[in-house]
This record gives sequence, structure tokens and C-alpha cells, in this order.
Amino acid sequence: MGNAYEIYALRYATMARTPQMNFLSPDPHETSAQDLDYFVWLVRGGGRTILVDTGFNADEAKVRGRKLTLNPVDALNGFGVKADEIRDVIVTHLHYDHAGNLDRFPNARFHLQDREMAYATGRCMCNGVLRHPFTVEHVTQMVRHVYGERVTFHAGEGEIAPDVTVHRVGGHSDGLQVVRVATERGPVVLASDASHYYANLHRRSPFPILYNLGDMVTGWETVERLAGHPDRFIPGHDPIVAEIYPRASDKVDAFALHKAPARSFGKKA
Ligand SMILES: [Zn+2]
Ligand SMILES: [Zn+2]
Repeated sequence: MGNAYEIYALRYATMARTPQMNFLSPDPHETSAQDLDYFVWLVRGGGRTILVDTGFNADEAKVRGRKLTLNPVDALNGFGVKADEIRDVIVTHLHYDHAGNLDRFPNARFHLQDREMAYATGRCMCNGVLRHPFTVEHVTQMVRHVYGERVTFHAGEGEIAPDVTVHRVGGHSDGLQVVRVATERGPVVLASDASHYYANLHRRSPFPILYNLGDMVTGWETVERLAGHPDRFIPGHDPIVAEIYPRASDKVDAFALHKAPARSFGKKA
């Protein structure tokens, strides 16, 4: 990997939760709080600015009862990045917290897995339990981008830029993809919802929103293989990320993932 990108996690919302809500088979003895943080990820380098996921807006937060600190598009502004500068947006999957604000990026191409579009517009969406994490307006906006020739579909692996690649893992959502980015400390894997928390992957214990358990399990192995080191996998929603990575802005909640973490979360707790 000859390239070295910077990666910033921008935290835009949070939700109070307990471990009982975060594992398909929770440990009944574990009772301390385990909040869920919401992030988008900004990748910069080689003259490129790539956004991974687009978060949700205030209306969505109200409907879902979430606490939005700042619309992630405005967080980007606070970080010195204008939405119209962004040419590539990787959408890891179409759940409401990853695929809102799709109308806010006038010059972007959207990178999505074939199977995610098929899943989010197919027969499974007739079923409330599978439909719940999706918002029809977001999916409809993506359909509009397809018709506007602004979507690049990927089937399995795909290259977004030199040493920035996507990899379908499925599991949590049928077309969930993770993102591998070359950095100064080696390849970092943005696992998104392949592992909400460090503990989902470490314990081999899935988050309860699940499409295919077999794919979820092999997805953890894929994440580990692509990262090549336990400290280079970044879970999608874990507040520990904001504790261990260096703060990268005094204006917005941003953390530098291309830098070494203050402490290792590579080993099982
Ligand atoms: Zn999700
Ligand atoms: Zn999510």
C-alpha cells in the first residue's frame, strides 16, 4: 500500500442504551450503560475527499427519538469541508442512520453494493421487522440517484480510489460493505455495522439487527483479515472510539483514526 490517507470519525448523535439491547444473546449479569454513538467517516488524501455514510437529519432524529448533536453535513462544514466538494460517497448500507441527507451532496457519486439496493427495494421490505431500520424517503432518494446515473454499483469488492476499497460482508443488512483505507499505520477497516461495538466482533456476539447470521460471522473474519491487526478495525457505533483516538477538531466531535489509539482494544476484554 503506497498511499496514506487520513481518516476522521465525525460523531453526530448518541443514544442511551444498555448491553441488553446490543447483543442477540446478552449477558444477564452485564448491567452498566452502553451508549450507542453515531458517526460518519471522512477520508482525505491524494487530492481526494471521500465520505463514508451520510448520517441522518433532525426530522429523522425526531421520528426515531434519537438525540442529534449536529447534522453530519453541518459537522463537515465545521471541519472545513463543504458538501459540494465531495465527489465520492460510500454508503455502507441503506439503514436510516447511514443513508440520510442524500440530497445534500450535489456533486457526488454514491457507491453501493448491488445486493443492498436489491434488498432495500425487494420483498423483504414487506416485513416490518426487516424494514424497520430503513426509511423509505432515503431509499427513494437513492433510487432517484440511480435514475440520475449517479450511483456506482459494486458486487463484492470494489476500488473507490487507489488503496481505498469496499468489500461486501452482508450479515446485518444483505448488502452491507466495509471500507479498507491505507493509512500511515497500515490499512484501517471501517467496519460500520459489521460490528457496532468492539465487543460484537471480539465476543462473536451479533448486534440484534440481523439479516443473515452466517454472513455476519464470516464478515467478522473478513474484517480481521482486511485489517491485518486488531487495532486497525473500527466499529460502527462504539463510544470507545471517541475515547481512544486523538481529537481532531475544537469545533466538532472529530477523531483521527489514522493515528494510533491511546490504548489497545485489540484483545477481548
Ligand atoms: Zn445498520
Ligand atoms: Zn448503524
